[in-house]
Amino acid sequence: MSSWLSPKARKGDPSGIAGRGLFAREPIAAGEVVAVKGGHLVDTATLLALPERLQGSEIQVAEGLHLVARHDDEYEPVMLFINHSCEPNVGFAGNTVLAAMRDVAAGEELTTDYALFDTPATTPMACSCGTPSCRGTIRGDDWRHPALRARHAGWFSRYLADRHSRLRSYELEAFNTATASTNKIHDDDVARRFGFSGGLVPGVDVYAYLCHLPAQAWDERWLAGGMMAARFRSPVYDGDRVLVTALPEGDDLDLEVRDPTGVVCAVARASVAPELVDGDPVDPDDWPSGSPPDTEDRPPATAEVLRTADLGAVAATFRADHAAPYLDDVREDLPLFRDQVRAVAHPGWLLRFANSILVANVALGPWIHTESTVRFLGLVADGDHVETRARVAAVRERGGHQYVDLDVVQHVAGRPVARIAHTAIFRLRDADRDAE
Ligand SMILES: [Zn+2]
Repeated sequence: MSSWLSPKARKGDPSGIAGRGLFAREPIAAGEVVAVKGGHLVDTATLLALPERLQGSEIQVAEGLHLVARHDDEYEPVMLFINHSCEPNVGFAGNTVLAAMRDVAAGEELTTDYALFDTPATTPMACSCGTPSCRGTIRGDDWRHPALRARHAGWFSRYLADRHSRLRSYELEAFNTATASTNKIHDDDVARRFGFSGGLVPGVDVYAYLCHLPAQAWDERWLAGGMMAARFRSPVYDGDRVLVTALPEGDDLDLEVRDPTGVVCAVARASVAPELVDGDPVDPDDWPSGSPPDTEDRPPATAEVLRTADLGAVAATFRADHAAPYLDDVREDLPLFRDQVRAVAHPGWLLRFANSILVANVALGPWIHTESTVRFLGLVADGDHVETRARVAAVRERGGHQYVDLDVVQHVAGRPVARIAHTAIFRLRDADRDAE
């Protein structure tokens, strides 16, 4: 049960990085085994039921399986006290064997990169390794970071290396389609006033980037009855080379968009055969079907107005032979959307109307789309006239921002094709200070 430690190493002395550490007592050669992690094998539920201190002794060894100290008296024998460093000298040779990545001198602290074995359950941790390549914050999903995957290739825990091999990737150059938008958050100067480094690529377009891998994996089946829930965490800027990755998790895909520095800009979960969120069939007649006001008559987007608004519907016809400019903008080449004979409407194009309906009904300052959960209920084919209807599900405040949750339905002549939970910040925290 106890971990094994090389006689050339000593654990538990005070560390300059954090708490107690693991140190080389004498020189250790590259490739030499430094330690073998011990503990009890438990499943994830058992792990999460343990006291926090004991959970800290854990390493994952396979999907759903962990090595951990189960009792207080096992804590010391199981712990290696190996600290994280963004420039580590110890990596994994298997799931439990830790080996020197380079020659280590006597007295040096032995460190590993937690990305080499760590898992998403871990809460973000500030890094104090002090190395030139320090990434500042250590997160449980760092194992997906493209630069780390390249830099530490061959030193990842075996089960993470397996995950890497299952990861599907798609790289593209982001393009801000909204520079002429009425939403000034896509304008470089306005976005900078709100603390962003340039105009934001619209969330609906980042959503379109996320669609590529599920659409490739599942084709029309996904768009006829699947779903995708996406959250936009951090801006994507015009010209960024972004990397989209998808990890198969059971029948689902767990997706991420990262910017060139490795920051996670968006996360999503896509499913081809989702559990029904609510079993009721969707009837578009349950949504308001009036017309939006004239542009100049739109009331300002206040909490009061949105709470009581009867939102007017918007409509558009999908024309397969007119789809190319949109598909070019969102960098989409799949024949599913390009083939003019059997092309279906792109889910990112359809999601744009969830934005349109908000803009058509209220006058907004700079605003930000933050989240969408789309349940696909049917295909939209060439010539289909799609009407988008919405009602306000909630208006709320968080962190000084004011949010609106829309419950959106899209239908073609009464046949529902999508139901969307669409969330936006309609008033940014600093809107008053910076309003002109
Ligand atoms: Zn660091």
